[in-house]
Amino acid sequence: MSVALTQAVPGFDVLSRRIRGIQGSRTLESARKANALRAQGRDVINLGIGELGFDVPGNIKEAAVAAVLAGHAQSTPVAGITPLREAIAEKLLRENGLEYEVDQILVSAGTKQVIFNAMVATLDPGDEVIVPSPFWVSYPEIVRMSGGTPVVVRTSAHADYKIQPSELEAAITPRTKWLVVNSPNNPSGAVYTPAELSALAEVLRGHPAVHVLSDEIYERFVYEPSVFANMLNAAPWLADRVLLLNGLSKTYSMIGWRLGYGAGPAPLIAAMTKVQSQVTSGTSSIIQVAGVQAIAGSQAASDAFVESFRRRRLRALELIAGIPDLPCYGARGAFYLYPDCSAYLGRRTKSDRKSVV
Ligand code: PLP
Repeated sequence: MSVALTQAVPGFDVLSRRIRGIQGSRTLESARKANALRAQGRDVINLGIGELGFDVPGNIKEAAVAAVLAGHAQSTPVAGITPLREAIAEKLLRENGLEYEVDQILVSAGTKQVIFNAMVATLDPGDEVIVPSPFWVSYPEIVRMSGGTPVVVRTSAHADYKIQPSELEAAITPRTKWLVVNSPNNPSGAVYTPAELSALAEVLRGHPAVHVLSDEIYERFVYEPSVFANMLNAAPWLADRVLLLNGLSKTYSMIGWRLGYGAGPAPLIAAMTKVQSQVTSGTSSIIQVAGVQAIAGSQAASDAFVESFRRRRLRALELIAGIPDLPCYGARGAFYLYPDCSAYLGRRTKSDRKSVV
């Protein structure tokens, strides 16, 4: 029997209240449905899942094969092999201008697991996490699964879907533990400028218990005139309160290989490592060796991926601009467009069909 991730099963009572209250991943669910329709012979374009669709760069595949042949089959340290954590620390210095020690870095089976580790390690029941909307669908569910309460703050299209300092101030309560900053953003493509980040940081100055989850998984996918900067570039004094997240899924088209990492204060990383030690242990020994090649080796293939999305984005924006009343705010980064279709809601087509609301 196959059961959809979001489906309740009548008469099956063993499930916890906590798990009944959360949604399975809606993006993975849409992929499941698309595959089921394809299996029935239907022609489906699946825009639900954030996959690049490129082959993994050859140098990374070769490193993985060499790791298999060299017999890298033993368990690794939970937080990741030292060469990989060193390669990540060097990348963060070289590309982001941020200094991290190896014990401030945790390698997990995907960025999603890093977020899960962080939430389980920090949230007590009722602790709040501010999630600006629109958001990547997993954040609120991971917060709920970890016993916390997501506080969704609706942003405005005219602000390019970026949370404003006054909206942040209004959302913070004594229970707030985290603010999620996902720039470039899935799904709006919004990219925060350094000035916008430092204005948000100023709000946080007055709330020392609030930490920042900086999801930078689309950092390379930023299109002119925008540039990538993160919260710590804008406000280095927040170093003890920022957890930086990144991974290989998007940059190297390796979503199925499952490798992500977090960088942050050593005590937080130690607590997250403790969580992971009881869930998956260290991530795959083979993928970690390949990960060193991905991060420290040639970036030519990754640069070509970004170039390809630069062209596709311009073409898609051009086509959308030809459709009346469909403005596209945000749209400076990542590989998503989030057109504002509100002008069409409730309208009727020529054949008198009503649009979906
Ligand atoms: N963060 C964002 C904003 C994403 O869009 C995704 C995947 O689509 C992830 C994290 C998860 O990435 P990973 O494959 O590294 O778990």
